[in-house]
Amino acid sequence: MKLQAWYEKRGFRFVVERAKRLSQRYGVYPAKATARIRHCVSELQKFDCRPTFFVPAIVVRRNLRFIRELNERGCEIGVHGYQHLDLKSYTAGEASAQLLRAATSFEKFGLEVNGFRCPYLSVTDELLAELPHGTFKYSSNKAVEWPYKNRPADDGRVVFETIQEFYQGVPAESHMSLPWKQDGMVEIPVSVPDDLQLHDGLGYSLEEIAGAWSDLLGRTHQRGELFNLMFHPELANLVEAPFITTLREARNMEGGVWVAQLRDISEWWLEKDAYKIEIERQGDGFVLNFICGPRGTVLYRGFEIPQLSTSWDATYRRLYARHVTIEGRPLPLIQVAPDVPGWVSACLKQLGYITLTPEDGIDCSIHIEPAMVEQHNNPVALRAAIESLDAPLIRFWPWPDGQRSALCLTGDLDALSLADYATRLLPT
Ligand SMILES: [Zn+2]
Repeated sequence: MKLQAWYEKRGFRFVVERAKRLSQRYGVYPAKATARIRHCVSELQKFDCRPTFFVPAIVVRRNLRFIRELNERGCEIGVHGYQHLDLKSYTAGEASAQLLRAATSFEKFGLEVNGFRCPYLSVTDELLAELPHGTFKYSSNKAVEWPYKNRPADDGRVVFETIQEFYQGVPAESHMSLPWKQDGMVEIPVSVPDDLQLHDGLGYSLEEIAGAWSDLLGRTHQRGELFNLMFHPELANLVEAPFITTLREARNMEGGVWVAQLRDISEWWLEKDAYKIEIERQGDGFVLNFICGPRGTVLYRGFEIPQLSTSWDATYRRLYARHVTIEGRPLPLIQVAPDVPGWVSACLKQLGYITLTPEDGIDCSIHIEPAMVEQHNNPVALRAAIESLDAPLIRFWPWPDGQRSALCLTGDLDALSLADYATRLLPT
């Protein structure tokens, strides 16, 4: 282990602050930690929420019976490195070897391997490209940073900022919190600040944490995105009440929030990614056939359709039929000019918009030209511009069964005892 590099990334004040808190939260043996996680899992189960826990393979090995118990209770167990190491300190080949070793251990322990999260979100694009295809179905490593209420500098600031530096979140003002495909996997972004940043870093009270999460739930819901709430079970007894407030609110939100595990999100995203339409000419008009599964959500606005539909929000109606006839008007789809930047088509697909090119030779109700992209030059701004147009549109929605947004509780279960903490840095 590169202890020198480990220390340099943290600094003296961060190490002291973390050590103080860890010694309060963990016992030498795992009993203290397992009791609070069991309690938290039971409370969450009442809301049909079974978190995804990312666990380093050596922590699984040392606490196998408990990890299996969580798995049997329906929690998803994801790979969190072999030890709990910053994988950015290694070459992509070395980091990939550590993750493969962890995946092999999981299989040996009888745990299904679906996804991984690097400790400290220490992924790189080189590492994602290096991992052999098929090892993991998803990665949950890139962070989107949402606005938070700042606090004057005190001892906690160093905790907040050190973690922020590790996470390297991109601003939610210009980036969407939606999955995408990368190197044969689904990347499911994490929502930050996390619980440690809010509690230990900014010194938020439990009410303030509940307030921050409910604000974030509201924002992701309004935008139709994912709230991938990252927490650390070392705080499980403290944040249980804010979890419950968040889940209760999610249950009551108009349009519905899909409370899911990351493996569900990844499976769904691959299904949705294959959705498309087929266009048939019929007389002077066209028939649009939606090629999608029964869970697919098709929405439309700005024109009438005779088939069964229900009101979905103030703008869209939800269509249940899988084909519609359009006559005497441009198709309610989006035509994308060939000379727009590459991110445009990728982001429109993420959002479920259906696009054609001028080469298709079919007129569409909405046109995206380079000038429009120049003016709205990030996914969030471009989506707002499309949504503000008074033009007919039919599209897929990013989430299944008509749900407006999604929520996942994902816990980085780094250790269960002080002994786990001490040994995870040592060579094995
Ligand atoms: Zn961790």
